[in-house]
Amino acid sequence: MTARPPTFTRFRDAQAELARSGAVLFRDADGVESLVIRYPYSIDYIHSYAEDSPFFLGLAEGRLRGSKCRKVKCGFVYGTPRSHCMVCGTPTEWADLPTRGRVHSWTTCHFGSEAFLKETPYNLALVEFDGVGSLLLVRLKDCVESDLYVGMPVEARFDPNPKYSITDVWFVPAP
Ligand SMILES: [Zn+2]
Repeated sequence: MTARPPTFTRFRDAQAELARSGAVLFRDADGVESLVIRYPYSIDYIHSYAEDSPFFLGLAEGRLRGSKCRKVKCGFVYGTPRSHCMVCGTPTEWADLPTRGRVHSWTTCHFGSEAFLKETPYNLALVEFDGVGSLLLVRLKDCVESDLYVGMPVEARFDPNPKYSITDVWFVPAP
């Protein structure tokens, strides 16, 4: 066994050695040497969707669920479900949204979290629906940035193998 792992002064070089052997010494600009090791870990995070559960169960059934204010005189419909109405404070009830809408605005992401790295760059859009007062933030697939415009018709697609995650839904350009 090697008593001391190799020493590096550039972290980029150290990374290659970490990938290979799992340990390096890294000497910083002040001459301080730190033992750096590769330490893989993973966790299973037990997460409850609680009152949001019908939204994710809906995605698995190919349904897009928003919420609607229970106060008849208000009746505000939310594209992103909320437990209580932002307009009047009344509790809401679940309401199916149309699965077709229009691009309200969008952005193209050139960086992303680990779940989205494989599809980077990807497009995120705020989608508006007829009869719905607020917007839904979703990914847009099957199109590139230069295809997109405000008001572009889009429709929902649902993962046939749902993971009960927001990635179970995305939108594509509608004919
Ligand atoms: Zn209301």
